[in-house]
Amino acid sequence: MRKPTPLETLIIAMIREDGPMPLDRYMALCLGHPVHGYYMSRDPFGPEGDFITAPEISQIFGELIGIWAAAAFQALGAPAAFHLVELGPGRGTLMSDILRSSHVMPGFRDAARIHLVETSPALRKQQADRLGTGVIWHESIATLPEGPAIVIANEFFDALPIRQFEARDRQWMERRVGLGADGGMVVGLAAQQLDRPPAADGTILEMGSSRDDIARELGARFVAGPGAALIIDYGHVASGFGDTLQAVRRHKFCSILDRPGEADLTSHVDFESLRNALAQGGAVTHGPITQRQFLLSMGLEARASLLSQRAKLNERKVIGRAVERLAGDNQMGNLFKVMAATSPGLSTPYPFGSR
Ligand code: SAH
Repeated sequence: MRKPTPLETLIIAMIREDGPMPLDRYMALCLGHPVHGYYMSRDPFGPEGDFITAPEISQIFGELIGIWAAAAFQALGAPAAFHLVELGPGRGTLMSDILRSSHVMPGFRDAARIHLVETSPALRKQQADRLGTGVIWHESIATLPEGPAIVIANEFFDALPIRQFEARDRQWMERRVGLGADGGMVVGLAAQQLDRPPAADGTILEMGSSRDDIARELGARFVAGPGAALIIDYGHVASGFGDTLQAVRRHKFCSILDRPGEADLTSHVDFESLRNALAQGGAVTHGPITQRQFLLSMGLEARASLLSQRAKLNERKVIGRAVERLAGDNQMGNLFKVMAATSPGLSTPYPFGSR
């Protein structure tokens, strides 16, 4: 048998002690264990890493979000001070592109107080290198100060833990990580009460309570004070059934049980559930629309052609490929969705509500 990862040894001991582990606990340990968690010590992004995100594909992505943030700032009445918040800022690339392009809006940069919600010490270090001083870090959104806020989250919610349930004989059972006959980890089913109508055998239901909790809290913030949020992630517009939990290591899919702590675990975001949670908190939601629709409406093509005019031939090709990757129908364009939430009383932010 291959050598288990340090985290695998720990998880196996926990299961021996407490019994099979719900997937949200497993996911939280794999991603966020203080020593062995996936995000805690490494930089997962880029060709050398495990996966790549939109801001790392092209600067245009962050620049267009910067324009959106600048418009939101104006909609908030151009306050003398506001909190510019990013959830799960990765390498800090998106924030740095936002700050560059939002300069077009007079007063924005001077008014912006930057807050990053980030649990990973390794990524905090990269964010500090990228963004310099004057940035405030938070473990969670609970410590964000009051006041007007613009909140951005790209590929944040997909990394938050979920639970899975499977239908068997007109009952729902929970999928949990337990131990097989050889002592290794296996996914099995455990009895668990669930207040949902029964479904056909084998149907999988996913529940992201920690995602919804954060969305509800954000929604409540926008009632207490003025604010706007932009949420970008991969997922589905309407709640449905199916197993979307996936593990990725070095740009390849693997089993969620393979090398715990060394693979990225994510699942599709249920935008219907997220939207309901934001609304429960009291915010008004807009969209979701596809990333393709969002980026094209925000001027992706015009910005790309301007950059291309100034670029050498080989760089032009890179820009063209990046545009295709971000907005192409069969690439990120349709799979990724963009949703906004605002305080009640604010007008619908562009490009939501436009045709
Ligand atoms: N937005 C970035 C990074 C996406 S990866 C980009 O688009 O490139 C997910 C990010 O969320 C990482 O920065 C990770 O460390 C952070 N993260 C994951 N779980 C978190 C949690 N529970 N609280 C705060 N940050 C978290």
